[in-house]
Amino acid sequence: MATKDLYVISAGIAYLLDDEEDIVNILRDVVESLGLQARGFTCAADFLAQLSEMQAGSVILLDLQMPKIDGIEVMRRLATLPTPPALILISGHDAGVLYAAEKLGRAHRLEILASLHKPLRLAQLQEVIARHLPGQRSASEGESAPQRAVLHDTAPTLLPLLLKREELAAAIAGQQLVLYYQPQVEMASGRLAGVEALVRWQHPERGELLPDCFIPLAEQEGLIGDLTHWVMNQVVQQIGTWEKAGLRVTVSANISANNITSLTLPEQLSTLLSEHRLDPTRLTLEVTESALMGELVTSLDILTRLRLKGIRLSIDDFGTGYSSLSQLHRVPFTELKIDRTFVTTMAQDSEARSIVKTCVLLGHELDMQVVAEGVEDRATWDLLTDLGCDLAQGYHIARAMPGEEILPWLQRWMMAGVE
Ligand code: C2E
Ligand code: MG
Ligand code: MG
Repeated sequence: MATKDLYVISAGIAYLLDDEEDIVNILRDVVESLGLQARGFTCAADFLAQLSEMQAGSVILLDLQMPKIDGIEVMRRLATLPTPPALILISGHDAGVLYAAEKLGRAHRLEILASLHKPLRLAQLQEVIARHLPGQRSASEGESAPQRAVLHDTAPTLLPLLLKREELAAAIAGQQLVLYYQPQVEMASGRLAGVEALVRWQHPERGELLPDCFIPLAEQEGLIGDLTHWVMNQVVQQIGTWEKAGLRVTVSANISANNITSLTLPEQLSTLLSEHRLDPTRLTLEVTESALMGELVTSLDILTRLRLKGIRLSIDDFGTGYSSLSQLHRVPFTELKIDRTFVTTMAQDSEARSIVKTCVLLGHELDMQVVAEGVEDRATWDLLTDLGCDLAQGYHIARAMPGEEILPWLQRWMMAGVE
């Protein structure tokens, strides 16, 4: 898998977590023989206690079965880090358990370099680690050159660390951010239902940067309020421009967990919309499931008032977070967006297909519109149509593009339809 090949253990540190001391010692010998620094733990709580000091670009060798806190819980905690280290999973259980844990890790967007069975084959472990040491980049990596961005030239975990607060603040205040728009189409009719606004940073030296490189920085450095403010202003102007050109379109914009701690957000947005004489139903805010994990009372207050003002709410990346069903029921979402990790694999993976099917049923039961993101091919489109999914978004329909390209794309789309 491409991401496996991309990861570089650039920090040179291996964290070893196994409740058996003998195993930690064996692992230590292996990683030190490869020139890495080893930090061993036999207790998951001790390991978690130093989580905030953990360096990006490291690797963790993680035993899944440990007393009290198991490997699955450790993965869940790691997923909350802005740039989690990669993992090598180790288990004495059967292959099914390792496979399930690996899938869970990927659903958390963790880099899983390998899953290894106990008893360990040390040569295999050595080989896996060696493949990810600096200077060992694989041939397949060169083949999949990114389309527009240059950011992948640097190890993906390192780039966010190189970007500075002042640079991003200047980019938000200056003219370096741009919004791209990705179409969302109605599956039954093929009609354009809306577009999702996705931010990019045209960095003067590094080229075009994708949001995953700088949104976490904006969140950590207290810049996400300014960034969201910029996004919303652009969105309302763009809606106006399209309207003048005869295109009436709904726009979805992403907001962060930190945005839903600002109690004045509903008023600010509704003022902005009325200043531009826009109906609030033209705007959908996408909130990720994990954003709801924080101060639930405050976020419920804000989300409910946004709905009361007519703004639509979508639960983004659904299936990868932790929201309970009752929470989903309490927040007045109008739309459920199935995470693309399930959608992109559903044509090959029957379990992913079952999850998508369940999400469609759940969304409809709760009176929500269901969107599948990550629709990359015709087979996936057909499966989703059979499942009764409402909207589709993904490379099979169109990639995100500058605002002025939407109308020409739409003309081509209406001529050709989905192919
Ligand atoms: P998201 O909201 O889940 O957006 C969908 C992401 O999936 C986009 O990545 C999009 O380019 C990508 N995508 C769309 N179709 C396909 C497909 O068929 N296959 C695959 N593999 N990927 C597809 P992008 O633009 O890199 O954005 C990543 C994330 O950054 C977004 O995920 C969103 O959470 C966040 N983001 C983007 N813009 C903003 C923003 O203005 N504010 C905040 N707070 N977050 C943003
Ligand atoms: Mg989104
Ligand atoms: Mg999403």
